[in-house]
Amino acid sequence: MEITSGDVFRALELDQVIPVFQPIVEIRTGGLVGFEVLARWQHAEEGLILPRNFISLVEEYGLINVLTEQVFRKAFRSAPLLPAPLFLSVNISPIQLRDLSLPNRIRQMAEEEGFPMDRLTVEITESALMVDLEAAGAIARELKTMGCRLALDDFGTGYSCLSHLQGLPFHILKIDRSFVHSMTRTRESRKIVAAVVGLAHTLCLDAVAEGIETVEQAEILLRLGCRLGQGWLYGHPLTADKIPQMIAADPVSVMAKAFSGADPQSASALESLPTLRLAQLQAIYDGAPVGLSFLDHKLRYVSINERLATMNGNSVGAHIGRSVQEMYPEWFSCCEPYLLRALQGEATAGVEIIKTGARDLDWPMRTSVSYQPVRDEAEEVIGVSVSVVTLSTYGDFTHGAPMLSPLAIEGFQSAWRRTSFAEN
Ligand code: C2E
Ligand code: MG
Ligand code: MG
Repeated sequence: MEITSGDVFRALELDQVIPVFQPIVEIRTGGLVGFEVLARWQHAEEGLILPRNFISLVEEYGLINVLTEQVFRKAFRSAPLLPAPLFLSVNISPIQLRDLSLPNRIRQMAEEEGFPMDRLTVEITESALMVDLEAAGAIARELKTMGCRLALDDFGTGYSCLSHLQGLPFHILKIDRSFVHSMTRTRESRKIVAAVVGLAHTLCLDAVAEGIETVEQAEILLRLGCRLGQGWLYGHPLTADKIPQMIAADPVSVMAKAFSGADPQSASALESLPTLRLAQLQAIYDGAPVGLSFLDHKLRYVSINERLATMNGNSVGAHIGRSVQEMYPEWFSCCEPYLLRALQGEATAGVEIIKTGARDLDWPMRTSVSYQPVRDEAEEVIGVSVSVVTLSTYGDFTHGAPMLSPLAIEGFQSAWRRTSFAEN
């Protein structure tokens, strides 16, 4: 069907634009947390027409406020069907971010239809923010003051700009469905999703993945620490009369599948979403009576704990970014074969190495060193985790770490392996 300006005018005049509702869920449990509201043109002959066929025309003819009014009002009217704390997430067009009267009009509609502003999220597309950052900022702040939350939609596409994230009061980052789709096929997409989820965590934002169609995609997202999601796996966008049915539907939980099976690390991963894993990692780093370091694929120190730095006779900072060979040519030849083997995916435990030359030691130190390959989420080796325990110093044991039983050493090493995920 060829859509003309006359068709669009008539559709709005006849109040034919309606909202449909797509479930947004907590990926871990599949529990419903809210709905995204999406516009549909209810055409007498054509049925429901998708936004891509009419939104740009509506914008072009300066009618976007009329459309927003029709969609928002009808969506707010569904309030009696939506028990708290379920929220509604509504979209606005980029050009509306120039209109300083927008927040008040949204509030007025919400009040008139009896929908609480603190259960409303407004989704803003990234390109929107390029229009007039000052006006966009004023609108965003006013909406926030009214209790409404803000989501940055389609993150990673269009005009991605990190300064927007810093400058505007967002609560939610929506990961564009193009990344979610290609995530199971390409390592790069998976890495981008991991990075975006990490960015959201760092900025204390909730991440919502869009376009989840398969259990496999949901499992990956869960493991990457993405809390919320939407997509056909959880439900297609449906009209308001289907809301009770969507609320009553059995949740689609992928938790059991994502963390079950042969993977012995699954139990710890269960509670350990990236930020928690990072905190756990830091605690192990700081507290373990074991020297720990992570080397990249060029055998450069990416991180090292205080204990190992002290054993080596240098500060933590002196190691970072420098290679083992550059730092310790005197004993590099002893450990090189094990490091190279680890880069090939082969772990070696309990290699005895006599360390000499550390500044604060009067005599050589006997150490037991383990080399573990560190793999990324695509199972590719990206570095080596090295753990070192002091067995003894010659003369007495006062300089070294306390003597540890082989069981304790294995315990620390396996805790370290579980948490030394490169992405975290
Ligand atoms: P959006 O806000 O990013 O909405 C998500 C889009 O992904 C929706 O397309 C939804 O139907 C679709 N989708 C959801 N799950 C899946 C999935 O698993 N697979 C696939 N392939 N697609 C999925 P829709 O409804 O066609 O809307 C397209 C865009 O139109 C929206 O993207 C939004 O930018 C815009 N839009 C929708 N409603 C409104 C509105 O009321 N006002 C304004 N200004 N824009 C709207
Ligand atoms: Mg949206
Ligand atoms: Mg989107």
